[in-house]
Amino acid sequence: MVVNVSRKKTKGITESVESDSLQLLLEFRHRIRACCEEARKVNGKPKIVYLWLCVTERGIGHSGPSGANGSGASTLALHEWLTIVDEAASMGSDWLVLTLLTELGRHPDVFRVAEWAQKTHGMTIGFHLGVPTLTDAEIKQLERFDRQKTRIMVRREDLDKMRHLQALGFTVWTANPQEEGGKPDCQGPARMIYVNAKGELYTCGLVDGHPDYRMGHALERPLRAVVADPSVPHYVDESIHTVSPACDGCPSLVANFFRDNL
Ligand code: SF4
Repeated sequence: MVVNVSRKKTKGITESVESDSLQLLLEFRHRIRACCEEARKVNGKPKIVYLWLCVTERGIGHSGPSGANGSGASTLALHEWLTIVDEAASMGSDWLVLTLLTELGRHPDVFRVAEWAQKTHGMTIGFHLGVPTLTDAEIKQLERFDRQKTRIMVRREDLDKMRHLQALGFTVWTANPQEEGGKPDCQGPARMIYVNAKGELYTCGLVDGHPDYRMGHALERPLRAVVADPSVPHYVDESIHTVSPACDGCPSLVANFFRDNL
């Protein structure tokens, strides 16, 4: 039996099928996204994904008397940094980003913390190099890390200095993917724990040192308690929420620009 269907009608049917398919596809994508979001939550609360540590010239992990850095804050010993990594991993963190405001090889404990995070917890490591040069010895240290789970980050203008690492199998990312001055395309600190080189917890790198955004010290109480504490600042005020060099290397920002090869 030949069914006579006019072109107009066929077009209408096709459009309707296409629109139904599109609707289904949209619903499917929506559900997949919702599942992914759900998988990132624990007890209905967003899960921590990133641990972001900042390393200054004084380094991290060096022992010394309490208040040795002149701030009154205790300096953390290596085993205490490793405990922070353990705690963050137990909260779901699968990324450790180390922002180095000094040469990568200057403080060997940095490699020990990173190695612990990757080998013990399977974390992906982001080495954010504030000093964009690497010696042969530093490259040799990097080669101990799993290339698939290691990212090297430098400012956009320094990317060419790191091209040789790509030949060694490393992925090199821009530490400042977004122009300065605008509103950051970041997820904010919601899924991130930021610890500065003194072991102080701040809402994020942008407000490191700002007393209104200090969340305590990593030795004071478990990270889980800090993250769940509604009385500490979990958001940055809109008035200062602007991309600046202090956002360089921020995992919450960088990850948004490199979603496809996370
Ligand atoms: S450091 Fe900048 S990009 Fe990162 S969470 Fe804070 S405001 Fe957003």
